[in-house]
Amino acid sequence: MPMLSTVIASRIRDLLPELERVYTDIHAHPELGYQEVQACGWLSDFLARQGFKVEKGVGGVDTAFRGTIETGDGPTVAILCEYDALPGIGHACGHNIIATSGAGAGAALAAVRAQLPKGRIQVIGTPAEEGGGGKIKLIKAGVFQDVDCAMMIHGFDRTILHQDLLGIVRGTFEFSGKASHASADPWEGVNALDAVIQTYNAVSMMRQQVRPDCRIHGIITNGGAAANIIPESASAIFYTRAPRIDTMWDLFKRVTAAAEGAAKATGCTLKVTQHESVYEPMKSSRVMLDLFAANMRGAGLTEGAPIPDRLGSSDIGNVSQVIPAIQPMVAIAPTGMAIHTREFADAAVKPLARAGMVAAAKTMALTTFDLLAEPARVKAAKDEFARSR
Ligand SMILES: [Zn+2]
Ligand SMILES: [Zn+2]
Repeated sequence: MPMLSTVIASRIRDLLPELERVYTDIHAHPELGYQEVQACGWLSDFLARQGFKVEKGVGGVDTAFRGTIETGDGPTVAILCEYDALPGIGHACGHNIIATSGAGAGAALAAVRAQLPKGRIQVIGTPAEEGGGGKIKLIKAGVFQDVDCAMMIHGFDRTILHQDLLGIVRGTFEFSGKASHASADPWEGVNALDAVIQTYNAVSMMRQQVRPDCRIHGIITNGGAAANIIPESASAIFYTRAPRIDTMWDLFKRVTAAAEGAAKATGCTLKVTQHESVYEPMKSSRVMLDLFAANMRGAGLTEGAPIPDRLGSSDIGNVSQVIPAIQPMVAIAPTGMAIHTREFADAAVKPLARAGMVAAAKTMALTTFDLLAEPARVKAAKDEFARSR
């Protein structure tokens, strides 16, 4: 009997024209978060053709899906897909490749169904990563309740086994003052723009006293109506990011305190609205990462130079806080190319992206197989997760 890795590799090779069509179609029809109707449809249809039982709209989210293959009592391993695009610049985060590598891994496992150890493989489609927090909704709806561990990959300019993700809290700060003629009766006014500027400056000063792995960034969304009116309302949005959940909330509290101080100083009232989707930092799973690393070499993926200061956020962080989860970065674009750029969007359908997709699909298929074959590894991953709480 041929080696499992050989069978998986040849199945992915056979399916390549179909997989290519899926990622090219998703790329050519970029859909924003929670509107990924076509992508969800193409991926679900593909998985159903491979023998998965597919449910659409899981967790009460229309464009989410779950494909399942069950071979008996055993662990449940999930492979996650993202497929939302960015406004204006399409698939500049390469989610078309994330989706297709996840579906490809599932298809390869379906092809070795007879050899699969007992358990469950789920390919879960998770919408709206770019700000909408689709995975948070799925967690709340219980979609991950019976999942033992989860994995996905993200396209990047190099391959990196584990990249830290910062937790992020977003908030809108609205100040209300009193309008008045800015020249004839300025003393009658209460200046809401002053409160926004005061907040912005206080946050800028605060940055010297925050750790280098934290981030605070914001914009002014309303600065008044006309220069001859003392602005009666003004507002700003700030994002605060930190590598730990407690420091993330601490930082958000400090920004809020700065805004409260500005309100007091200017005589304005303040309304703070914390945005619903809070992305949590990424926990790492050494057990799963070691398995992925061992399989990745055979699939032709080599780790690139670490880049510890290029820090983003994602709702896979929230998943990693409830079950062991990993998100290795896989090279799909030339080294040095930034993500969320038009160049990266162009790269996401080029040969380098195809090669990354194929290697990622193989690696995830083998890693999933290994976890099912050795439930002790799943237990080790869960023990490690419990210890790191
Ligand atoms: Zn992105
Ligand atoms: Zn992304």
